Amino acid sequence: MSHSFLRPVPPSLLLVLAAACSAPAPPPEITAVSFSPDPHSYAQPAQARVTAVALDLTPDFDARVLAGTARLAVTRAPGASSLVLDVRDLTIGRVTDAKGAALTFDLGAAKPFLGQPLTIALSPGADLVIIEYRTSPSAAAVQWLAPAQTSGKTLPFLFTQGQAILTRTWVPTQDSPGIRQTYEAAIHVPAGMRAVMSAEEVTKAGEKDASGRAIFRYRMTQPIPPYLIALAVGDIAFKPIGATTGVYAEPSVVDRAAAEFVEVDQMIAAAEKLYGPYRWGRYDILVLPPSFPFGGMENPRLTFATPTILAGDRSLVSLVAHELAHSWSGNLVTNANWNDFWINEGFTVYLEGRIMEELRGKRYADMLRQLGRQDLDDGIADAGGPKAADTHLRLALDTRDPDDGMTNIAYEKGAAFLQTIESVVGRDRIDAFLRAYFDRFAFQPMTSDQLIAYMNETLFKPGEAEKVNVQAWVFGPGLPGNVPPVKSEAFEAVDAQVARWTKGDAAAGLTTREWSTQEWLHFLRALPQTIPAARLTDLDRSLNLSASGNSEILFAWLEIAIRNRYEPAFPALERFLLSQGRRKFLRPLYEALAKTDWGRTMAMRVYRQARPTYHSVSVGTIDGILKWQEK
Ligand SMILES: [Zn+2]
Repeated sequence: MSHSFLRPVPPSLLLVLAAACSAPAPPPEITAVSFSPDPHSYAQPAQARVTAVALDLTPDFDARVLAGTARLAVTRAPGASSLVLDVRDLTIGRVTDAKGAALTFDLGAAKPFLGQPLTIALSPGADLVIIEYRTSPSAAAVQWLAPAQTSGKTLPFLFTQGQAILTRTWVPTQDSPGIRQTYEAAIHVPAGMRAVMSAEEVTKAGEKDASGRAIFRYRMTQPIPPYLIALAVGDIAFKPIGATTGVYAEPSVVDRAAAEFVEVDQMIAAAEKLYGPYRWGRYDILVLPPSFPFGGMENPRLTFATPTILAGDRSLVSLVAHELAHSWSGNLVTNANWNDFWINEGFTVYLEGRIMEELRGKRYADMLRQLGRQDLDDGIADAGGPKAADTHLRLALDTRDPDDGMTNIAYEKGAAFLQTIESVVGRDRIDAFLRAYFDRFAFQPMTSDQLIAYMNETLFKPGEAEKVNVQAWVFGPGLPGNVPPVKSEAFEAVDAQVARWTKGDAAAGLTTREWSTQEWLHFLRALPQTIPAARLTDLDRSLNLSASGNSEILFAWLEIAIRNRYEPAFPALERFLLSQGRRKFLRPLYEALAKTDWGRTMAMRVYRQARPTYHSVSVGTIDGILKWQEK
């Protein structure tokens, strides 16, 4: 196929683009926008769409509520008389136009995870809507942490997590990744606290509101999908790394974090060399308290990260390479809706491998790739096997929570697809393709069909698309047979140690001294499924696994401990489940426990205590695993 996929741009959208470009920063290159239907949004952007959001919000840490106003700049088609927004669990007060005249509005029926449509009648000529509102204490995007859940233990903390469709629980807007918006915010915070956001800080020194709260101001002049609007408030310190990079974290964590991420400028240089300029100005990392449900979230200019990657030896920083890579794949070119989530994540895992290869060499990157393939095998099994519909790259989540699509398929099958293309067209050509793709579609949404059309147009020579078998990869199940094998030399050496131990050698005699985290993970994953208690004791005593300070190694060990009911590791298991809320770790551990009666009893006991400390994203998943009923 070689047809052009860009639809003609209606005049109303040209106005949209003009509005998006009115900020003082150099205007982003937007050439065209087409709205593909988004089954997870009530918005009708072809009628009226939000182009800019201005928030003025005050967090109330006692009530666990954000309250204030959202001013929405709106562009509409001629004759359109209403604006439809996505909201969930919001209390809406007055809605007015720019002159303060009340606008009538209607809140439709609430649906699970989608929330409600908020339909606002637009007055003639009005291009601004002001909404007074407050969030619910149970807003799914916002986690409110008590002081005890922070490192400092003295002040509370809050953070938001918008992806996939949670932004609507704290910002009334059109919450679809295809509807890009600029934003600005004024956040009023109590003394001793700081607000940080996924935007440029433009705080006026010393500015306070009438109640004496400090006002922090932020502005994002590049249009972003609303799931990337992000806020954190707490006792937050900053430490620079390079001229345009640094770390935000609680004061007791910030030095350790800055030391861990010292390679970030090298990562940016490597990514720019491969994929073109970093377009977002600064790149900072916010290390959150341990309940953050993800490894990282690629909020623009300010990656949100779990503290579980602070291993002390920079061994888990490929996660930063991943979040940084989203500055191209995901934040610059964005999945148009959540059925195409692999366009964000598959590309990003591929880029992550390439960035880490630039930094640490092929031997290192091959280890990441081989571990990724194992994760992909697990992902296919979890999704129901190699024939299951949920193993397609292009998903059909229309009637489901898009969170269901956030599996290893999008990440690792997506990356394997790009590795397969690389194996057919060669590295030089895929690099040139990606570089041009990010330039061509910067600040635009992307669908599977559009991507394939562009590949056919600019990448594949005759016969190559068939050789790659694009249709089978994107629209078919399982792992196509033409995936190039990944071979890690480092892991072959580890396999020799696994063989020695399996034959009966003591763990103390194994050659493990120079092992990276990845080699440890391969070692633990390659051990037999069933291991007698005495041999587990040998491993644990000699290799100090239950006491590991490396979250990935500890996690892999705890999976083995549960599978073999190795009780000496259970205190460490309990501590791990109670001390952090990263879903990647929680889900497999609770799932493994839930398989047996003794494990289920333990899981229910621990979860009862841990549940109030987890973010809603993790709670939703673990509730499902344990069939938890709130008592
Ligand atoms: Zn990602």
